[in-house]
Amino acid sequence: MARFDGSVALISGGARGMGAEHVRGLCAEGGSVVFGDILDEEGRALDEELGKAACYVHLDVTNEDDWEDAVAMAEEQYGPITLLVNNAGIVEYGAIGEMTPDEFRRVIDINLTGTYLGMHYALPSLRRAGGGAIINISSTAGLMGYATIAAYGASKWGVRGMTKAAALELGPDNIRVMSIHPGPIRTPMTDGMPDEMTHSQPIKRFGEADEVTKLLLFMAADATYSTGSEWVIDGGAVLGPVMDIPSE
Ligand code: NAP
Repeated sequence: MARFDGSVALISGGARGMGAEHVRGLCAEGGSVVFGDILDEEGRALDEELGKAACYVHLDVTNEDDWEDAVAMAEEQYGPITLLVNNAGIVEYGAIGEMTPDEFRRVIDINLTGTYLGMHYALPSLRRAGGGAIINISSTAGLMGYATIAAYGASKWGVRGMTKAAALELGPDNIRVMSIHPGPIRTPMTDGMPDEMTHSQPIKRFGEADEVTKLLLFMAADATYSTGSEWVIDGGAVLGPVMDIPSE
């Protein structure tokens, strides 16, 4: 029996990047996946690649009707949801003095409110399934400060805090809630960023999306006594820079 036989996953931002890798990984291990995005062309291509195991749905995470439709589709196609992955996210760059209020609100709306909406609308289905797991994608920017991405950092710290509140609330429903905190991972979001960025880390390279997927699959299937927990996958970035400290 495959590890995710009988599992029904709903994943946001699944058309490309890490989300697409999570969709592939779950299908490869027997899961059924409904995945949403606003990139319909990429989403439909992945849907075709994966056949009956996966279904694409247009899902703008800021839109409540889209969430209702995505949950309904998961139930119709495969049954109640056992795994929700709130993965969709954007980053906007700009110092606080330069970033406009609209730019700030957009990041919070997608990354933070979108994660709340995902949990809110998927919860009845997770309860119908008798429990399961919610995995919220935060960032190392939800563990430490970075200049020029204040809105992104605020949203990812918010995701981390909300994960803990949800874990406390949903333990009695047999629903575990956890956050993943990736460091620099090679995806379209980090396209063009230089490798040198990683050279102060103990592991001096970008991570690959499938390395995050392996962690996510472990958390969903095997980490059965873990909830409210933060899973860091960052090449050691949050440890602080590697430094040669003179001994004399
Ligand atoms: P990605 O390749 O840009 O994938 C994110 C997907 O979410 C894209 O398809 C994006 O579409 C979509 N999206 C944007 N706004 C949306 C909305 N309103 N509704 C639904 N989907 C929407 O990025 P990624 O690197 O795989 O990132 C996945 C998650 O990991 C994000 O939450 C990100 O913040 C987090 N993360 C990434 C890194 C990294 O180094 N890559 C590090 C830490 C955390 P568009 O292209 O149209 O925006």
